[in-house]
Amino acid sequence: MSTRFAGGAAALITLAAVLMSSVGTSAAQDGITVQDSSVNYVFGRQIEFTLTAASSAPITSAMLIFWARRGADGEICEPEFEPGYEIRAYCALDVAGLELTPFTLAGYSWELGDLSGRHLETEPVWFRYKDNRFVWELYERDSIRVHAAGVARETIEDVLAAAMVTAEELSRQLGVTEIGLLDIYLYENLFTLRSGLELPGGELMDAYSDPENGVIAISAEEGPGSDGWRRALPHEMAHIWLYRASSGAGIPLWLNEGYAMTLEPEPDPYMDAFVEEALGNGELLPFSSLCVGFPSGRDELYLAYAQSRSLVRYIRDRYGQEAIRSLLAAYAGGATCEGGVQSALGLSLDDLERGWRLHLQKVSGGASDRLQVVLWLVLLALTSLAMGYGFLYSGFRKRVRR
Ligand SMILES: [Zn+2]
Repeated sequence: MSTRFAGGAAALITLAAVLMSSVGTSAAQDGITVQDSSVNYVFGRQIEFTLTAASSAPITSAMLIFWARRGADGEICEPEFEPGYEIRAYCALDVAGLELTPFTLAGYSWELGDLSGRHLETEPVWFRYKDNRFVWELYERDSIRVHAAGVARETIEDVLAAAMVTAEELSRQLGVTEIGLLDIYLYENLFTLRSGLELPGGELMDAYSDPENGVIAISAEEGPGSDGWRRALPHEMAHIWLYRASSGAGIPLWLNEGYAMTLEPEPDPYMDAFVEEALGNGELLPFSSLCVGFPSGRDELYLAYAQSRSLVRYIRDRYGQEAIRSLLAAYAGGATCEGGVQSALGLSLDDLERGWRLHLQKVSGGASDRLQVVLWLVLLALTSLAMGYGFLYSGFRKRVRR
């Protein structure tokens, strides 16, 4: 909450790139009239609200309610203002104190009261909290919009084309026809992306999707050391399609991340070996522990992603793509993590896991020899190539995605 009539507000206002104004959106009810109401913000720092209103009796109370997203708890901002027949109120909220995610739809409403007991609550105004540190160029085709900042036109065209192909593939796989608008924010590089995606809780990400708002943020980089957009784009798009296919209901994280990874065109080649190694060492994570969250340790997190991808592929191979749709339908109907598996596949999550382990053992029976060979080759590469380590290590880096 902030109640400052900030002296530095003028500087902030000149910095702000977006100004939204709704004049007279709320007609007078019982005499109180909003003459002007606006919001502007400095991305990642502060959101400012101004209001001018008038009434036939002096306005004595004013309060702003802010929602970081639809359905969120309201944040109250109490402005300083001079009570009177006409008032000008100003309120500022520090972004650091809000559960505000980039590119989300945020909203606000004013509540005013005058001396004669009249009361006005304005209709909520919703605005897109974009990263306004950059000027975004818009490229669109059908319902896909790419907003790019500092990215070569050729790359933008490539991203748009890849998004069209992925959209078609996802719709076909998941049987989703109505997806609505998809907004892809394409940053120049990982550095600018990460600086924009510092999320509440200090989480650092190399790609981001907000399925509820149909928004994706990725970096246009393709070089080593980053995931590259060719892998990140279909992955993040899958999260949006899965959200729609399950009618916005929560689905298990192992299904969400595992499925998203099956869409990646250049699968991480180290994942399967990592799962096999964990199987051999008796270190596999139980899927019942991967329903709502993944472990935070680097290796366990990587294993959680690798296992999830492996299980989803197993379900598809063993039970068919129809089983994935049944799972999503079960979760759309409110099933629990275990209940969804039971109703879609007719077996418990534990039994599914047992079947998957058996399958892995069968597959890795011959593969453990191959793994040994691979490990020897890796050792050889490490000893002979001083630069080799960085490259091999990049496959095991911490992946933080949604
Ligand atoms: Zn993900």
